[in-house]
Amino acid sequence: MLANRTQPVRRTVRPKGKPVTPSANTISIAPSDSAQADRFEPLEPTSEFLADLAEQSARLESATPEEIIAWAAAQYAPRLTMATAFGPEGCVILSMLAQLAPKTYVFNLDTGYQFQQTLDLRDRIADKYGIQVDMLKPDLSVPEYEVLHNGPLYKTNPTQCCMDRKIKLLHRGTHGMHAWMSGIRRDQSADRAQAPIVGWDKKFNLVKISPLANWKKQDVWKRILDEGVPYNPLHDQGYPSIGCWPCTRAMQEGETDERSGRWSGTAKTECGLHSPQEIDGSGI
Ligand code: SF4
Repeated sequence: MLANRTQPVRRTVRPKGKPVTPSANTISIAPSDSAQADRFEPLEPTSEFLADLAEQSARLESATPEEIIAWAAAQYAPRLTMATAFGPEGCVILSMLAQLAPKTYVFNLDTGYQFQQTLDLRDRIADKYGIQVDMLKPDLSVPEYEVLHNGPLYKTNPTQCCMDRKIKLLHRGTHGMHAWMSGIRRDQSADRAQAPIVGWDKKFNLVKISPLANWKKQDVWKRILDEGVPYNPLHDQGYPSIGCWPCTRAMQEGETDERSGRWSGTAKTECGLHSPQEIDGSGI
């Protein structure tokens, strides 16, 4: 049995004693619930708090993803959220959340450049699991954004484009939250190889939980096929990693990195959501 030991540390004073642990099914606070979100006290990453997170992460190394998610829900709900791009890992986590914490607030960064197959997955997930993923949109529509920048910015400055159409949305989606979950795996890339199960995400000032960090690609696909988890049909057409359509291509012969089709032909390898860099979202 996994114990809940990480205590939230507030900006003002570390609470004494164990806080009331909400039910895993407590409805999360969506950013639109601004009154509640504005009342919250963000966590403060004191050295004591970070040491405790590291201890929890080490302890969870041998836990299953379900145990990690259950721990996260017990520890942080209703201020626990998940961002998903409807990749295979995200769909697996959604299938687990449906069992463990179905009212967790889940959102998608709806950049306006996603594949239709990706958008369709939202409804397939809702039909199967009853989880309604909130599609967060940038302030400007794609036409407005492209007029503002005299054309598609993904061609000339993809880092800024990701900042405007992804990272700002993640800040919005996690407003009022203490922790967020992502589907990253350590074997996806060198950049992700050091990802802890639980750690402090200093870019977003949140606890970040990666329940699948220890899983391999084959573990994810075994679960999908064994349990009939909905997935993006583009994966069957040579796209192991899917982002926005202008910045995603199918893998080519001889390529081994499953993310080689993302921002192909540029030095960019990540949108910045999972990087430790603070400002421009580049470099991963
Ligand atoms: S992945 Fe491409 S289109 Fe999507 S936000 Fe980033 S640069 Fe823009």
